[in-house]
Amino acid sequence: MQPIIIAGGGIGGLATAMGLAQKGIPSIVLERAAELGEIGAGIQLGPNAFHAFDYLGVGDAARAMAVYIDSLRLMDAMTGNEITRIPLDDAFRTRFRNPYAVVHRGDLHGVFLRACREHDLVDLRTNSGVASYAQDGATVTVTLLDGSVVSGRALIGADGLWSNVRKQLVGDGAPRVSGHTTYRSVIPTEEMPEDLRWNAATLWAGPKCHIVHYPLSGWKLFNLVVTYHNDAAEPVAGKPVSHDEVRRGFEHISPVAQQIIEKGKDWKLWVLCDRDPITNWVDGRVALLGDAAHPMLQYFAQGACMAMEDAVALSHSIAATPDDLEGALDSYQSMRRLRTARVQLQSREIGQHVYHPAGAHAELRNAVMRAKSATDWYDTIDWLYGSTGLEGAVSAETRRR
Ligand SMILES: Cc1cc2nc3c(=O)[nH]c(=O)nc-3n(C[C@H](O)[C@H](O)[C@H](O)COP(=O)(O)OP(=O)(O)OC[C@H]3O[C@@H](n4cnc5c(N)ncnc54)[C@H](O)[C@@H]3O)c2cc1C
Repeated sequence: MQPIIIAGGGIGGLATAMGLAQKGIPSIVLERAAELGEIGAGIQLGPNAFHAFDYLGVGDAARAMAVYIDSLRLMDAMTGNEITRIPLDDAFRTRFRNPYAVVHRGDLHGVFLRACREHDLVDLRTNSGVASYAQDGATVTVTLLDGSVVSGRALIGADGLWSNVRKQLVGDGAPRVSGHTTYRSVIPTEEMPEDLRWNAATLWAGPKCHIVHYPLSGWKLFNLVVTYHNDAAEPVAGKPVSHDEVRRGFEHISPVAQQIIEKGKDWKLWVLCDRDPITNWVDGRVALLGDAAHPMLQYFAQGACMAMEDAVALSHSIAATPDDLEGALDSYQSMRRLRTARVQLQSREIGQHVYHPAGAHAELRNAVMRAKSATDWYDTIDWLYGSTGLEGAVSAETRRR
């Protein structure tokens, strides 16, 4: 069987290779970088990620890497007081059939990488940046940046925010620059202020800024992600930045929240980008996946979770109609489009209305959020954590039969 080509060996690309391999479908992963890997930072995993892990055949390995936190805490960065807390206890796990956890990105990517390396049906190739594609109804021919070509039955563009596959398929120019700057640091747990070493994913919300922290890697590390809405105009990814520059965005918040910034070191900067949802990301035998299809701000902590859900829906669709790849890609897209659009748009909304407001707007946020019980919170997030998109894949399969 001719393989399916996947552009990009990030979490989305490797998850897709594993999803296809679970269905007996061979793939070639073309990664532009010289090595396959992830940046040294954390990632939050909603219960929907765990449904995807199980489907993709890496459930046990992924569970072994995770830190299982007790709650999601929202703090007021001006007063230092807790606004609300969403418990992630047995009631949460029962309702959403899986836990909520945090994990080191390298560990998560490593889980997929090991699984791909051990699988005969996955061919991983580095130094293989995808430049463009052509298709004739049966075969997709991919031209690499060095001019060489690779052919397969289909092409999945999992090549991230600046996707070359998207450039050709959609042609909608550069991503939208949000004006929000995120600084990341990972510190040893003993350097985190002792009174803030909570087993929680904590978010301190302040005017035009917020701070997130949680433990990582068996509690050896703490992940710090701090964001400042400073109207930055140019996209930036992973640039080292001075402590003073980070500090400047947080001088107006309470000392208890500021001390988190003081503990960070080796800060790196990202100017966040996303895109508006689009109505089509499929062209014949070519489709987009993950950030290439629906890049979003990280405010729901769902970009990688959505990429893994995409991988589930895509593998399911292709396996359901192996002789109709175009139909399978259309069906994958219709399973995923509105759900991912909702996360894209609502991520912007919570940045504006929950994480960054000031004055009366912040007071109102606090009052509304304080009034919610755990059950209210579970109802509020049911649309996101209560489904993987796999249910859609299963019913689509049933409809076709
Ligand atoms: C600050 C921050 C915090 C976040 N926190 C969370 C979180 O808590 N939970 C969560 O679920 N998500 C989170 N996300 C989002 C998440 O990181 C992304 O959505 C996810 O990594 C996207 O995966 P991907 O595989 O689609 O793209 P990427 O991870 O960008 O992978 C794309 C891959 O393609 C390669 N590539 C690029 N161009 C080419 C080419 N032309 N040819 C071949 N290969 C190419 C790249 O080298 C890369 O390996 C966060 C994002 C940010 C910025």
